[in-house]
Order: sequence, then structure tokens, then C-alpha cells
Amino acid sequence: MINYGRQDINQADVDSVIEILNSDFLTQGPQVPIFEKKVASKVGARFGVAVNSGTSALHIACLALGVGEGDVVWTTATTFVASANCALYCGADVDFIDINPDTYNMDIDALASKLAVARESGKLPKVVIPVHMCGQSCDMEVIHDLGQKYGFRIIEDAAHALGSTYHDNYVGSCRYSDITIFSFHPVKIITTSEGGMAVTNSQELAKLMQQFRSHGITSDLELMSERPNDQVWNYQQLRLGFNYRMTDIQAALGLSQMGRLEAFVAGRRAIARRYDEAFSELPIKLPFQDGNGQSSYHLYIIRVDIQESGHGQKAVYENLHRAGIIVNLHYIPVYRHPFFEQMGFKEGYCPEAEKYFSEALSIPIYPSMTDVQVEEVVEKVSALF
Ligand SMILES: *Cc1c(COP(=O)(O)O)cnc(C)c1O
Repeated sequence: MINYGRQDINQADVDSVIEILNSDFLTQGPQVPIFEKKVASKVGARFGVAVNSGTSALHIACLALGVGEGDVVWTTATTFVASANCALYCGADVDFIDINPDTYNMDIDALASKLAVARESGKLPKVVIPVHMCGQSCDMEVIHDLGQKYGFRIIEDAAHALGSTYHDNYVGSCRYSDITIFSFHPVKIITTSEGGMAVTNSQELAKLMQQFRSHGITSDLELMSERPNDQVWNYQQLRLGFNYRMTDIQAALGLSQMGRLEAFVAGRRAIARRYDEAFSELPIKLPFQDGNGQSSYHLYIIRVDIQESGHGQKAVYENLHRAGIIVNLHYIPVYRHPFFEQMGFKEGYCPEAEKYFSEALSIPIYPSMTDVQVEEVVEKVSALF
């Protein structure tokens, strides 16, 4: 059985976790800030705020940007539900932009025209959350320009894109955004089991996110209110926050994994090149790369059009599962889920995302896949078409 994704854990990872288990601090110790610095400096951002999931990172990012009741957050239709739920956690509304049919990222033209309409009706978004689908960066320069023009802030959902580049920078440099978030779920580029991080170049946003991840509490004297000198005020709660902290066990695993980031990404790219070549003659659509940067290939997505390939997506999905190739689907358009339908979103809202949903399949790609496994996928997919 070959899954569409899985973690790569070696002895050094295991040893680094055991070391922490035998140390003084399982959480709130020194590993978390070291891991934060490691990730932030790798991607070229000034600050990193580690949390217990990518979803928590999205939530504290929205909170730090002041998202609240009466606000609207826009994201792409083709993403994991977390990219939309973060807005709802804050009491804001969410809306969706259709995807580009080639990159599967938020479509820039659709974004621009929706913004023009929203300005007329006075319902501009407070925050836009582009998602770097499969690891391919969105065209952030253009989205940033639109942000300047229409006055919205930007959170990059880079859950797929640790180690990807955009122009000459790593995704996460925040050159064209306020905050970028990463996920360290086991199927993602590196793992801490559960875990995530928000990176930013703004000290103010970093401080806010640090508070939101830990109950809204600070022990920073500069931020604390004056209290009588003879009382012990070693911390104060300044706002309503959460317990979203990453443990030192997780951070140690993440640190160890960061040492293999380049190797992980190179491994994924090599598999993608093999698939590109092996499937070039098949009647299926392969991942399109727009040349703005290098993808880390979190996912390798094929599209099967029943007219062209003679097979429906569901039949291919079931056939490959029976053959031991556990393909997956990323993603059902978020607004098609019953929860979002209850908010009034209707079928047909984002036609490209819906067409994509009826054709897309994620085939296995992860750095610890053996050559034999890669060739098995090549053979079974090729045989089908
Ligand atoms: C995985 C993922 C998330 C959420 O990350 P978790 O760490 O699982 O909470 C958010 N957005 C996208 C696009 C993802 O793929």
C-alpha cells in the first residue's frame, strides 16, 4: 500500500525527541524559540511564532490582524477548510475566489474583479488568504499590489510550501504579505506530528501572536499595566487568548527535521520530474508550473477528464485504491461542504474549482518513497490510461 503522503522519521529525529523527554522542560522550554528562529531565518522572515497546528497559526494570524465581527475574509475555493474556518473563529464572514484552471491557485483576475465589485458595494475584505496550492507560490507581487490598492491585509497559507521559492525568496519571507503560516502535519514538508508556525517581519504582529497562542498572557514588562510595587505581578492577561502552544518535544522533532528540509524538497522534486516524464504521453493533465518560483511539491495532482482519458475520476480513484495506490482528493471546494451550504453558498459559485474537484487526484509523493514504489505508481497509473 502506498499512501499519497507520509512522514520521514530517522534515528536522529527519534534521538532528539528522547533527549527532550529526559530534559527539564517538555513544554515552554528552550526548544521552541530555537525552532522558531531556525524556520524564520531559513525562509527569511524576522520572527516565528510556533503553535500546535497550522490551523492555530491561521487563527492567531487573523486575530493579530484584528479580524472580528463585521469583517470579511477571502480565501480560495480549493483549499483545506482551515483556510476559511480561521475567519469564522474570529466572528468574521468568509467568501471564496475561484481558482486558476492551470495553477489551481486563487485566480488573480477573479480576485481583481471581485474586489472592484466589493468596493462598489462597500464590502471589501479585511484580509485575503492566498494558498500556495501543492507548494506552487501564488503570484504574491500582484496580490500585494491589489492589497495596496484596496486596503486589505495578506496572510499566506503556506501549509504546502515550506522550502518553495517565489522569485528569489523562500515562501515565508513575507515580502508581499503580513504573515505566512506553515503546517507541520505528518503529510506536509516537515513534521512535528501536529504543529504549525506563523512567520512575520512585524515585531508588533509577532508579539500579538505570542499572546494569542498563550491565553493572551504576557510577562513582558513593557506591555504590562502599572501595579503596586509590593504585589507580585509576574505576568498579566491582556486579551483573550488560547492555549495553542507547541511543546518542546514537537519543537525538537521539528528542529531535527529542518536539517533535512533541502533533502526532503529535492526528493519530492525528483519524484515529480519522474512522473512528469513518465506520464507526458498519457491523456491526463499534469501539474503546470508557472515559472515564478520552485514548488516543494507537497502534492502531485493529475486531472482526469472523462472525455479525454475515457475514465471518470471516481473510477480511477477506486481502481488505484484496489491496486494499493492510496490516491486522495485535494480539495472539495470549501463552500460545497454542508456547513458552508447552510450559510447560503450554492453549487456553481466557483465553476473552475468545481470542475477541478470532479477531475483531480493526488498521487503518492513523499521523500521516503523508494524508487520501486515510484515505479509501481508509474506502472499502475500508466496501465490505467
Ligand atoms: C494542512 C493544511 C492546513 C492546516 O494545518 P494543520 O496543521 O493540519 O492544522 C491549513 N491549510 C492548508 C492548505 C493545509 O493543507
